[in-house]
Amino acid sequence: MAHHAKTTERGYGAAWRKIRKSKLATNPLCEACSRRGVVSVAALVHHKDHDQFNNSIDNLESLCNDCHERHHAGERFGHVGAKMKPDVGLDGYPTSPGHPWSDNN
Ligand SMILES: [Zn+2]
Ligand SMILES: [Zn+2]
Repeated sequence: MAHHAKTTERGYGAAWRKIRKSKLATNPLCEACSRRGVVSVAALVHHKDHDQFNNSIDNLESLCNDCHERHHAGERFGHVGAKMKPDVGLDGYPTSPGHPWSDNN
């Protein structure tokens, strides 16, 4: 008897596609853009708390690619990056010469 190990994964994918589709049907425009008075078509559904299993409607946001990229870039290089790696530049390389990652020490 064939056992499909990926059943859960496939099931999740199908459920998510359905949620995503209905979210985009309800909010076809980018929600971040519309808050700024800009009209652009949403390309994807973003999880506000970054938990891909939290598909509660409050956690979902329709975003265009630009807003989505900016949102996640802000996380990497904004508050989190500044707190975690104060001596690493935006390109990911150390900014201080004495840093162990630097090769001119
Ligand atoms: Zn947008
Ligand atoms: Zn996202």
